[in-house]
Amino acid sequence: MGAIEGSDTLLALSAFFLIVFIPLTSQVFVFLPWLRPVTVNSGLVLFVFNGCVGMLILNYYLCVTTDPGRVAPGWEPEGLGQFGELEATSLTNGGETITGLPRYCRICNGFKPPRTHHCKRCGRCILRMDHHCQWLNNCIGHHNHGHFIRFLIFTVLSCGMCMVMIFARLLDLVREAFKEGTKPEPLGLVPVLFIAVNMCLLVPLTSILAMLLSQQLRNMYRNLTTIEYLEKIDASFAYDESFAADPYDLGCLENTAVILGDSPMLWLIPQRMKGDGHVFICKGDIEGFASDHKRPWE
Ligand SMILES: [Zn+2]
Ligand SMILES: [Zn+2]
Repeated sequence: MGAIEGSDTLLALSAFFLIVFIPLTSQVFVFLPWLRPVTVNSGLVLFVFNGCVGMLILNYYLCVTTDPGRVAPGWEPEGLGQFGELEATSLTNGGETITGLPRYCRICNGFKPPRTHHCKRCGRCILRMDHHCQWLNNCIGHHNHGHFIRFLIFTVLSCGMCMVMIFARLLDLVREAFKEGTKPEPLGLVPVLFIAVNMCLLVPLTSILAMLLSQQLRNMYRNLTTIEYLEKIDASFAYDESFAADPYDLGCLENTAVILGDSPMLWLIPQRMKGDGHVFICKGDIEGFASDHKRPWE
């Protein structure tokens, strides 16, 4: 376990190093020498770029340091009594995945609230668990899911802006070279080196993170966690479509508000998640939705 923890910390540190290294070196060695003296327009571009980088670092910090969600000690599902003492006892001896019965974690020795899963890496149950992220050395769960989505948004924006600005710098160089009567100033070895290294890092990094962001947004719009999305695919193969219904899908806008907050104007601003992660609104709780898939603990 010690070796695993050590390698996870190393991965998280290298991810942090990478997200600071690329914007910092691009700015110091490529953008600033090129844009100097800074005009209103170039100043605005640099302000937006640095704003995105600042937000990505802040959200990275929040993802790493926010506890994804612990099950409250002694938590029990509502209506547990209807199963009787015998069933409750047999559940404590295992039966974590018995369909239709309250879910129980025999490792943590406690009932699991809806959408909670046990993370082997963290060694405990995580409320509304999405996945364990080795790059952050933390689980993504109920309390830090919003920070994670904002982190991805600002990372993709920062990386995208960085690539566009490097392209613009190279384009400017080519334009100067073809301009009659002018001799372009050579870039210098250090800027060339950082352009090459950063572009080699930026292209794969931006593609992977953009893909991850699109998956996260797709799940967020449907109020699904990554685990639920994978379970849903399995269920739709194994059973019929009705098994794969989304009990928490309240509509695109409501689903987004669950993760990013009620006010769309503040969606990109870090904020605490709503609720305690033990109870979730189901379609069946809202008038007009069918309640076929609603169970007290799911
Ligand atoms: Zn557990
Ligand atoms: Zn975990």
